[in-house]
Amino acid sequence: MADIKKRLPCNVPGDFFVDASCIDCDICTEIAPAIFGKGKDSACVIKQPKAKEEEEKALMALLSCPVGAIGTRSKEGVREVIKKFPAKIEDGVYRCGLSSKKSYGAMSYFILHPDGNWMIDSPRENAHLLKNIASLGGLKYIFLTHEDDVADAEFYAKAFNAQVIIHERDAHAYPKADIKVSGDDPTNMGDFTIIPTPGHTAGHMVLLYKNFLFTGDHLWYSPERKRLWASEEYCWYSWSHQLKSIKRLLDFRFEWVLPGHGRSIKMSHKEIKRQIKELLLMYNF
Ligand code: SF4
Repeated sequence: MADIKKRLPCNVPGDFFVDASCIDCDICTEIAPAIFGKGKDSACVIKQPKAKEEEEKALMALLSCPVGAIGTRSKEGVREVIKKFPAKIEDGVYRCGLSSKKSYGAMSYFILHPDGNWMIDSPRENAHLLKNIASLGGLKYIFLTHEDDVADAEFYAKAFNAQVIIHERDAHAYPKADIKVSGDDPTNMGDFTIIPTPGHTAGHMVLLYKNFLFTGDHLWYSPERKRLWASEEYCWYSWSHQLKSIKRLLDFRFEWVLPGHGRSIKMSHKEIKRQIKELLLMYNF
């Protein structure tokens, strides 16, 4: 729970605040970008919510913060707002919210599909979210983009008897996985394409579904740079492999980039291609 005594000076005056326990994971700025912005090494409240919709978004960010760094004087509305997760993005694709400290607050996603629903990476264990997912038909698969974002996948897998998918090179993070992807060739599973993208970790993978690319920590949108971005600083395995894996995305068509960290974005396929090519050129790749 956020501590008013540790309220950061960068917050604008008012009920909502971020305290000093913030780990700068970007979840609140993704969920409620009108209310939360980037401070120095933390998020800050840049505008207090006024309209009901803004208040709801601020509370959704509060609930999703992995370390409880967001506070507000009034908790009114929290019980109603938790029912909004998973929160619809578009076309049967949802954000799970309720990020876990175990994955450094990575965003996870839910896909409603007639042949069985998917979860991409895992939120933290939460009975309300479990119930809401159950009401949407439960889960058939849990796709883990990489070893860092496993969080409470086991809790959700057990509850729904879901099959967990991970690359064998990252499988030490989930040894009991039901499907271990091997090699670097894309794998089709009905409407879904699993694309190994080694770089951030040796077994990193992204998932393509319709126009949506779930990118884990491979590629994201940077509002500061106003472009698609990837970071050598946060690359744990091999930056040259990561650049090669980014290049292979040019073979696929998508309009949404939905990452674990960083901001999501929707733009035309043409613009995505242009930005990927430009990013690669920045690194002479
Ligand atoms: S969600 Fe919490 S930890 Fe993450 S940036 Fe916002 S306040 Fe900080």
